[in-house]
Amino acid sequence: MARYTGPVCRLCRREGTKLFLKGPKCFSDKCAIEKRNFAPGQHGRDRKAKIVGYGLQLREKQKAKRMYFTLESQFRSYYEKANSAPGVTGELLLQQLERRLDSVAFRLGFAISRRQARQIVRHGHVEVNGRKVNIPSYQVSVGDEIRVREGSKALPVFEVARDYSGQGSSPQWLTIDRNAMSGKVLSLPKREDIQLPVNEQLIVELYSK
Ligand code: SF4
Repeated sequence: MARYTGPVCRLCRREGTKLFLKGPKCFSDKCAIEKRNFAPGQHGRDRKAKIVGYGLQLREKQKAKRMYFTLESQFRSYYEKANSAPGVTGELLLQQLERRLDSVAFRLGFAISRRQARQIVRHGHVEVNGRKVNIPSYQVSVGDEIRVREGSKALPVFEVARDYSGQGSSPQWLTIDRNAMSGKVLSLPKREDIQLPVNEQLIVELYSK
């Protein structure tokens, strides 16, 4: 599966806002948005055009796409599914992003960022209902139990993640046992559970043109 492998702070600078892609660094004064809050590239400082209409819709889509590290084709397929299901399309779209196994692993505190969570899933450190799942886009369901595999818990990456995640609050739709490095899906995430600084209605408008 293709993925973005370039510098991630650049993505935040392009959007002009923090996308929180790097864990602790995002909350420090080393954050690129704190130091250089202008678009990347040679003319980044010069371009200050007001964004309206299509531009606004595009930026909201890019933000969501980048926060979950999905590519365009996959993001669009999430939209198509949301659009054909009963319910509020924007909320269903975000719900699918949030139900990705890499995002859930991040929410459960197995990693300091979604990017790192994607890597630990890819490397086979996570299991769902007792079986190894190494597909970052795997959609979790209500009742699923997700945990770090027994043999992986002692890896330094998980010790760092445990210390870091202990500082944050837990999402309502998951139960979390930080010591056991496990969690359970209690319900599907509602919009208020998904702390995402994105206007999903603009994304729906973009795709429904
Ligand atoms: Fe974005 Fe985090 Fe980099 Fe800041 S440190 S620019 S929030 S990824």
